[in-house]
Amino acid sequence: MASIAHSFSRPFSHDSLEFDLAVSMGICMYPEDGRDATTLIANAESAMSQAKAEPGTSYKYYDRKTVEVATHRVALEGALRRAVERGELFLQYQPIADVRTGAILATEALVRWRHPEFGLMSPDKFIPIADETGLIISIGEWVLREACRQTRDWQNLGFSNLGISVNVSAVQFAQTLLLAQIKDTLKYSGLEPQFLEVEITESVLVRDAETTASTLKALKDMGVCIAMDDFGTDYSSLSHLKRFPIDTLKIDKSFTQDICGKHDGTSIVPAIAALVRSLDLSLVAEGVETFEQREFLEMQQFDGMQGYLLSGPLQSDQVVRFLGGGA
Ligand code: C2E
Ligand code: MG
Ligand code: MG
Repeated sequence: MASIAHSFSRPFSHDSLEFDLAVSMGICMYPEDGRDATTLIANAESAMSQAKAEPGTSYKYYDRKTVEVATHRVALEGALRRAVERGELFLQYQPIADVRTGAILATEALVRWRHPEFGLMSPDKFIPIADETGLIISIGEWVLREACRQTRDWQNLGFSNLGISVNVSAVQFAQTLLLAQIKDTLKYSGLEPQFLEVEITESVLVRDAETTASTLKALKDMGVCIAMDDFGTDYSSLSHLKRFPIDTLKIDKSFTQDICGKHDGTSIVPAIAALVRSLDLSLVAEGVETFEQREFLEMQQFDGMQGYLLSGPLQSDQVVRFLGGGA
């Protein structure tokens, strides 16, 4: 292979024409990669298409694993397309409590996908595919509706001040329908806007600062709250917090877990906390797992906490029990 590649590395002449070519080669082996000519040629072609993805001359061996991964991904994508209509998505709700009193302030809606064949899948697996394919628009709309409807039901049961946090990805945020979706959802569910908090990550803010600012402002005008999720993992830019109308900052679990641990969370978290307080934002810690962490957060005057210490994500019927079975 290397010698074929080498012979094309310099321009050559043929029929008084000068050729300067790059070559892409796909290789597969008999009998491991196929026992008949059709299969072998098809597999060599699939290897060649991978070689073509690289600039210049290159060659690739047929790799069954890569093909399996790609095939699985296509299958997932197809299945995800039908997940909403087939009722395969469901929400779990993780309580968020007041650090001092332990009172439940809100829950965060976390989407799950139960596929009959692939089993239960976490959002980290399928939200990126939903984002890339645009399926997040319909999935996100379903999540919003279901979370607001459910929260309104809990409020009707007597938990009248319970809020709901809903994650919105950068792709969702970039589409103009989002505002209308939120407006419709609030109207349809009867949930008052101040009980809805939209969780965004910093990647939303850097995408298109002007449009983002106007969408955030429109949300604020509607009375919806905005939380910055996973703070500390991305840009961690304090200027973002000043520039955009953010109500709540959620400190990423990696920071929380360094509190009283071997890293530097104990020194960074107070610094972030002091700055955030000076901006008059509400401060929530994610991933709180130990009493020591909670004590530390209380000392640092955090407002809210979320994590396994309090509760992991719950099914909707478990939430009612968690809240006390009735107000
Ligand atoms: P997130 O919004 O930061 O959600 C918190 C994640 O941390 C959840 O993972 C939750 O189960 C997990 N977690 C909660 N408490 C603890 C703890 O004490 N320790 C540890 N180690 N982990 C804890 P999950 O449910 O797998 O969700 C992962 C991410 O997927 C979410 O991170 C969010 O970015 C995204 N996501 C979830 N639901 C939706 C959705 O409806 N729409 C969009 N666009 N994204 C979603
Ligand atoms: Mg979140
Ligand atoms: Mg988070």
